[in-house]
Amino acid sequence: MGISNEIYSIAQTYLRKVRPSGPENVMAICPFHVKADGSPEQHPSFAMSLVNGLWFCHACQEKGNLYTFLTGIGLTRDQIDLHHSLTIESARKNLPAAFDPAKPKVYTDSPIPESLLGVFDYCPLDLLRDGYTEQTLKRFEVGFDMTHYRVTYPVRDLTGQLMAISGRSVVNAYPKYKIYDKEYPCWGLPAREMWDKKGALWNAHTVYPELFFQSRPETLVVVEGFKACMWVWQAGIKNVVALLGTYLSNEQRWIIERMGAPVYLFLDNNWPGVKGTHKCGEQLRNSTRLFVIEYPDRLRDDEDAQPDNLTPEEIWEQKNRAISYFDWKTAA
Ligand SMILES: [Zn+2]
Repeated sequence: MGISNEIYSIAQTYLRKVRPSGPENVMAICPFHVKADGSPEQHPSFAMSLVNGLWFCHACQEKGNLYTFLTGIGLTRDQIDLHHSLTIESARKNLPAAFDPAKPKVYTDSPIPESLLGVFDYCPLDLLRDGYTEQTLKRFEVGFDMTHYRVTYPVRDLTGQLMAISGRSVVNAYPKYKIYDKEYPCWGLPAREMWDKKGALWNAHTVYPELFFQSRPETLVVVEGFKACMWVWQAGIKNVVALLGTYLSNEQRWIIERMGAPVYLFLDNNWPGVKGTHKCGEQLRNSTRLFVIEYPDRLRDDEDAQPDNLTPEEIWEQKNRAISYFDWKTAA
């Protein structure tokens, strides 16, 4: 069975009202949203590529690859491994040529087995207390590592492969955030000494499929860390990525430029964040429409303020009144 037939059969199994749309896509009812009045969607707004499995809903803007589709509709990792791993692998090989992985390198050669995430399948309570919903934490595959007492954040490359696990200590171990290296042998996996984070732009693998369907994203918010990224996403701004620091690598820049969206820098409110905004701004100002999201008055002088200290309403307000990078730079 060719890849198109395999993906078509997955679509037929899990989606309603599947119909071909051109030679390479299908349309169907989106499984990820209901209408604003709570009634089920009757109009097919969900597009999926039969070539590479990327999908995008024109109504709710959800998007992703074959793997995130299958987890999104509720399949377990074991079910996916058992029934769909070969199809996912073939689909990945057909990812759009615009993302030619030859240069620069934005994918990993040695992905971590997905099954490792099963080990971390606990909901981190401190994040629930901070206001993150279970749905958000599940969406970002946040878990908990009982061996090292760290909240785990999977880091995926642009094609969705698992390239690293980052753990945030809940017992004040140093460093607070750690990209795992020597931890893996305790789960029967080889240690991973080489961590090249240059190609990692957190959540980019779910944002970029929109490009493939030529519906240009209106907004790309760029934040520093995991929590800020999930918080902005939970507020309803789905096109958000995290640099995992304040430094913009050439690889990250390449990915961001290819998203084709106006970029809203929203780094932390401390000195490294301001410096980072300036450095990222200089790198992106000639290639993107560039804005800076400022902190609301109540937090403006708070050096510890981060995007996740804003209410969802404040995030939208500040985003809507974001100023151009040029104005920000001139005022600073
Ligand atoms: Zn939808």
